Amino acid sequence: MGARPRFLDVSAESWTLDPDVLESQLRAAARRGRLPRAVVPVDLYGQSCDLDAILALCGRWGVPVLCDSAEALGALYRGRPVGKGAALAAFSFNGNKIITAGGGGALVSDDAALIERARHLANQAKEVAPHYQHETTGYSYGLSSVLAAVGLAQITALQARVAARRQVFARYAAGLSGLPGLSLMPEPEWGHATRWLSVVQLDPRRFGATPEMARRALDSANIESRPVWKPLHMQPAFRGIRCHGAGLSNQLFERGLCLPSGAMSAEEQDRVIAVLRSCCRG
Ligand SMILES: *Cc1c(COP(=O)(O)O)cnc(C)c1O
Repeated sequence: MGARPRFLDVSAESWTLDPDVLESQLRAAARRGRLPRAVVPVDLYGQSCDLDAILALCGRWGVPVLCDSAEALGALYRGRPVGKGAALAAFSFNGNKIITAGGGGALVSDDAALIERARHLANQAKEVAPHYQHETTGYSYGLSSVLAAVGLAQITALQARVAARRQVFARYAAGLSGLPGLSLMPEPEWGHATRWLSVVQLDPRRFGATPEMARRALDSANIESRPVWKPLHMQPAFRGIRCHGAGLSNQLFERGLCLPSGAMSAEEQDRVIAVLRSCCRG
């Protein structure tokens, strides 16, 4: 869209956008007379950002909030569905998400006019005319009816899937408890995360192994795990754009490990737990 991103760091309590960093950045941007056109918090690994705090700050400076809730369908924030209250929130139905249509996603809003506008642009901006009139250029972003049917058939299972993911997380939490230098992704009191992925942090000095060593050990046991998302400011595509804040996202990348988190039996989880325990030299 020709926008220039500015990356802001996350908070330790939720691993999502840090409202304190946002506040100082908005304040500085207002002083420069260059407020952002939008703020896009990400609801990471199935956990809502601190949306009310973000909305209050952005509201003070009149900046719209668009939630990237792609990973968090089914999560709650202060009892309401994730993303609700933002100008727009986007969900993904990609193959790895909690509900999948094989691809595509959904945009939600309380603002019917915004949704109307998005629908228009997503459908090649066709005006109502037999000759296909275009007042502006659009996109072909519509979810096909076939894919929509595949996704819709799973929606009734959403609550059960969230419960299952949380169960997987709880089993990891119990099985990995007491390991020095290992901590699990926190869940702030304002949110009910889906635990789309169960993520741990390993402090190599206390745990006695790096996340990469643990990943390789799991791999040797034919168990797939992944590092935490590489922060965008560390991606070559955004070379030269720094991240504002204390650098927690760098640390999460260096110390994080995403464990297998899908439909798993207790025995399968026990195998993962046993390998991680065997890595610990702390
Ligand atoms: C999956 C994901 C996306 C992309 O969704 P697609 O449907 O694959 O385009 C965007 N943001 C986050 C945070 C995601 O996890």
